[in-house]
Amino acid sequence: MRLVLLGPPGAGKGTQAKRLAERHHVPHLSTGDILRSEVKASSELGRQVDSKMRAGELIDDDTISSVVASRLAQPDAAHGFILDGYPRTIRQANALEGALGSQSLTAVVELMIDEGELFARVEARARVAGSAGARADDNSVTLRKRLVAFIKESQPLSAFYEGRGLLFKTDGSAPVEEIAATIDDHLRTCGGANHPRLPKL
Ligand code: AMP
Repeated sequence: MRLVLLGPPGAGKGTQAKRLAERHHVPHLSTGDILRSEVKASSELGRQVDSKMRAGELIDDDTISSVVASRLAQPDAAHGFILDGYPRTIRQANALEGALGSQSLTAVVELMIDEGELFARVEARARVAGSAGARADDNSVTLRKRLVAFIKESQPLSAFYEGRGLLFKTDGSAPVEEIAATIDDHLRTCGGANHPRLPKL
């Protein structure tokens, strides 16, 4: 199972990615989580990306692509992965294909959300900013910036993966369990279909 989840910030990619990773026994690779742990550890990479992350800007394609390529080369990703937050640009999507070599993705799932609802979610998330455990980039200014970055840089990925026959779009505003069931149904028809550990619930 080699899956990419696409969708704007606040679409619920993390929730679905975590669940899919557990269900398919493959790692959940969230580039946001990887970068946040580098920032926390104050590593060279963490220091390099900290200000961009705080500002809600994308970090450069080469840096993030080399982080992902080394992560994909680790043994636990040999049988698959759920990518959450990568690729975010067409250059990253090309770099991912390079890193995968002869292996192809099983599917690319896009969680679609109406823009109005998205801004409402963004505002709701920003309201809890500042509370214990809130992310440094969870405030309304940076969340809006991340949304704009998504619209500009990441939306073209839909057409990119559609052209490769990999894209599956689903309504990200549906209840979490309904989205999960829709994704499972799709995966049964596209390579995850014969996965021995994927019984119908
Ligand atoms: P996320 O948790 O996926 O929303 O990511 C948080 C932040 O990490 C983003 O706003 C970017 O600054 C950075 N980031 C994560 N993934 C990427 C990526 N694929 N390309 C560029 N920047 C990224």
